[in-house]
Amino acid sequence: MNTKPLKYLLTIFILTCAHQLTNAQANYRKIENYKTFYGWAHHYPQDWMILRQFENEGKSYYLLVNPQTLETKIDEPDFYQVKLMSIAEARTFFKNTPYQKALRRAEKQSIALQDAGIESGIPKETGISLTADLCPSHRPLDKRIFTDIFTEFQKVERPVPVALSVTGVWMRQHPQDLEWLKQMQAKHEIYITWINHSFNHHVSLKAPLKENFLLEPGTDMNYEILETEKAMLKNGLLPSVFFRFPGLVSDQQLVYKLTDYGLIPIGTDAWLAKGQQPQSGSIVLIHGNGNEPVGVNDFIKLLQSKAGSIAKKQWLLYDLRETVEDEFEGSN
Ligand SMILES: [Zn+2]
Repeated sequence: MNTKPLKYLLTIFILTCAHQLTNAQANYRKIENYKTFYGWAHHYPQDWMILRQFENEGKSYYLLVNPQTLETKIDEPDFYQVKLMSIAEARTFFKNTPYQKALRRAEKQSIALQDAGIESGIPKETGISLTADLCPSHRPLDKRIFTDIFTEFQKVERPVPVALSVTGVWMRQHPQDLEWLKQMQAKHEIYITWINHSFNHHVSLKAPLKENFLLEPGTDMNYEILETEKAMLKNGLLPSVFFRFPGLVSDQQLVYKLTDYGLIPIGTDAWLAKGQQPQSGSIVLIHGNGNEPVGVNDFIKLLQSKAGSIAKKQWLLYDLRETVEDEFEGSN
């Protein structure tokens, strides 16, 4: 029997899988010249906006965002027809896309000292988007969140989408917890959207809000943003276009500084540990860093109370990228 065609097909299949695997899990351990870099990249039939450029072991890469879906990816420049632009030019060029609409919407909600940016989606169906913050902490990851959502949703939604706001310091402190999360993702049990939550996440117990967190005098926003992205890439995580302000604290100037990096601030309308009740379309906030077990308990109770609806697919977890994108459908 001639097994050649079969072997050939198998080789193609394995190569394809290997390509996808390296794409999903690449660790860029020797990043150099990581910088903001804006423009238009076209690979038929899709347009992408370029956000960053860097080199790793002599090769050049872009961080790109699909302005329709808010998906990001890392890719080599050679695949694209490219036009370089300033951030202002790129934002005008992509003006009518969901991504740019989300940035503008966030800028309109930038005045309050707390909870600026996008805090909920449209309640077109019942369910929520779950965000869990990983601020610096000496406590281990609160794994119940992930094992419980997997158990509740495995028959109706797999992988279950969850968004994690991660700090540079947490990644450095918790390599094993990070590995555990990546394993869950590799097994398609959960899908994680990684939100930038700053590198250092400084907080003062005494300073007023207007001089606290990233509003602390002397804060280097370029470092807080770009070093966190670099640490994500080094650890094999894909940066998204989302940012969560530490303490949810910012002012208008800081929001505009952030959107100048192409990042969308994500607030919350349901911080569970503060007693805020989630509604349909809510962006729910809990802490996954072990510092706020009360919020995690409330979330688990919420899951249990929705068990019947979850089984009937009447209460779901939504991908943050879709939540933010949907909000602007049909609007200008
Ligand atoms: Zn935090």
